[in-house]
Amino acid sequence: MNAYWSGFDLHSHSTCSDGRLSPTELVQLAASEGVHTLSLTDHDTVQGIPEARQAAEAAGIGLIAGVEISTTWSGCNVHIVGLNLDIDNPVLVEGLKEQQAARQKRAEIIAEKLSSLGVENFLQKAESVAKGAELGRPHFAQVLVDEGVVENMPEAFKKYLGAGKKGDVKSLWPTVEKAVEWIKAAGGVAVVAHPLHYKMTNMKRRALLKAFKDAGGEAMEVVSGSQQSRDQTNYMAQLAKEYDLAASVGSDFHFPSQWQKPGKTNHLPETVNPVWMLWQDEPAH
Ligand code: MN
Ligand code: MN
Ligand code: MN
Repeated sequence: MNAYWSGFDLHSHSTCSDGRLSPTELVQLAASEGVHTLSLTDHDTVQGIPEARQAAEAAGIGLIAGVEISTTWSGCNVHIVGLNLDIDNPVLVEGLKEQQAARQKRAEIIAEKLSSLGVENFLQKAESVAKGAELGRPHFAQVLVDEGVVENMPEAFKKYLGAGKKGDVKSLWPTVEKAVEWIKAAGGVAVVAHPLHYKMTNMKRRALLKAFKDAGGEAMEVVSGSQQSRDQTNYMAQLAKEYDLAASVGSDFHFPSQWQKPGKTNHLPETVNPVWMLWQDEPAH
């Protein structure tokens, strides 16, 4: 059963998005947990890759340049991971710039919608909480806590920022097809992140995988996080087979305490084609 626990963790976050460890700290932790190849896949940015790469070299582990791109598909927010990217590719760089603009625009709308709460300089405060990371709802929630508008983060989401609330502003994300296009332009492999996390019927999930495959996507996360049951893993493996997608595995680690450490996931079943074969099989020129 251990066939493919070969030390890969291909989904993780640093302080460059909503993780709490710097790229260096993340890589060091992963290395100490026995991960031999880590991918840093921050939300809509590859800013942390150069630092992670240096740290990986120092720690003696492999580092796959990655990113997790936010998209909208059929009314749902769907995350597409890109692995093994050329982070300097102009198409990718331009695409990620657009993501930042979309996130910034959304942040402005959130601040505007919640202006009746009377928090002065709401947007600026959220930006300072984010400390240069990509701005998102958790940062606004933190400001509401800091300003005493709510007691804690869950309350902030329950009252103002969660699904259906005033500050739940629809994202201005691109299509799945666009994200796949950017990833492929940068020589990377596109991967549907955590297919089980989306609130959709199994039928819709299948439609997503088909659309992704038709767009040129090559892989899906068959194992995501540490909580997945064996049945779920088998189901994901079955879908990967059905849609002819390679299989990825990642902890989606953001920070200790809420996440198991990097590398602490179930193993990929032996029936799948591991995603790393797609870049390890490249013939030498
Ligand atoms: Mn995240
Ligand atoms: Mn995600
Ligand atoms: Mn993630």
